[in-house]
Amino acid sequence: MAKNALITGITGQDGAYLSKFLLEKGYNVYGFLARRGSDTLWRLRYLNILDDIKIIDGDLLDLSSLIRALELSKADEVYNLAAQSFVGTSWQQPILTTQVTGFAVVNVLEAIRIVNDKIRFYQASTSEMFGKTTETIQCENTVFHPRSPYGAAKLFAHYLTINYRESFNIFGCAGILFNHESPIRGIEFVTRKVTDAVAKIKYGKQNKLYLGNIDAQRDWGYAKDYVEAMWLMLQQDVPDDYVIATGKTSSVREMCEIAFSYADLNYQDYVEIDHKLYRPAEVERLLGNPKKAKEKLRWEAKTSMKELIELMTEADIKRVRDNKPEF
Ligand code: NDP
Ligand code: GDP
Repeated sequence: MAKNALITGITGQDGAYLSKFLLEKGYNVYGFLARRGSDTLWRLRYLNILDDIKIIDGDLLDLSSLIRALELSKADEVYNLAAQSFVGTSWQQPILTTQVTGFAVVNVLEAIRIVNDKIRFYQASTSEMFGKTTETIQCENTVFHPRSPYGAAKLFAHYLTINYRESFNIFGCAGILFNHESPIRGIEFVTRKVTDAVAKIKYGKQNKLYLGNIDAQRDWGYAKDYVEAMWLMLQQDVPDDYVIATGKTSSVREMCEIAFSYADLNYQDYVEIDHKLYRPAEVERLLGNPKKAKEKLRWEAKTSMKELIELMTEADIKRVRDNKPEF
């Protein structure tokens, strides 16, 4: 019989790719949708899957809506991807970030305990929890030192997931995912900000690109590859936590070089540093060790950072060339 999955954060980058992946596996996919004033379903349309998803209204801060969603969907698996996910905003809205990204995870876990404690649960943890790490490469046992309200909220949710596993035997897994991107990544994140700018500069719609700390280094992978790891975690015999990463790191500067070169441009002619874009506390360098995921889940990243940035640049160039709306 087909399994039922409930995805929170269905309208986000990962929610869209995970939905597509699960639909292709034959799942009934239920999307937990926070109603907004504007249309947020564009990613599901972009991947041509909106009609295949059963939408249930709710908000992560509203326990009753989560309980109703679990009852309606008869979920076998819950993927908690909803969050205020942008580090920069977490300093402007620290309370909201703490509530949605951190505290609300107890709502999801409580809803599971109340409705059906056999539901398998995936929590979207993050490499931002490592923050000011002293380890050159980070794995599941690396000490955490979050550097933003976002990182701190995610760390709370991470430990809560482990706590519910240890206290109530909930099948809860936390995927410690390093940065992952795609053509439908939010435009506020640096990769997409760069690829969008390259396309606009190429077609004369923008002159300069203002960035903050371009020496920061990230382990960037492709979101489409990473959602498979989320699913694999919930198919194991025992719940556990996994680092999901490519095992390679690059600077924002190197990423710019790749994106601009793809459009036959030199990034040095267009990129300007704006110190207002520096963060109050920076995560200077992240590099993940995906060894455990490779050994236990048989998962590894298929797409290199260069391939990723090129496919994103190409998608933005086509969009700007065809005068398609910005997203
Ligand atoms: P996005 O920002 O693209 O998506 C976040 C989703 O959360 C959106 O669907 C948003 O809905 C939803 N949401 C926000 N607030 C609420 C709420 N109160 N109730 C219900 N839904 C809400 O994130 P990504 O897809 O990139 O990431 C998915 C998850 O993985 C997030 O938790 C993120 O923090 C985490 N993560 C992401 C990484 C990455 O590199 N992408 C790395 C590591 C972890 P709406 O659009 O309506 O606001
Ligand atoms: P994060 O790792 O989740 O914070 O993902 P981002 O894509 O937002 O940022 C990655 C890195 O790029 C961080 O170290 C930022 O400081 C750096 N960065 C430099 N300039 C910018 C910028 O203009 N926007 C963003 N979002 N990040 C920038």
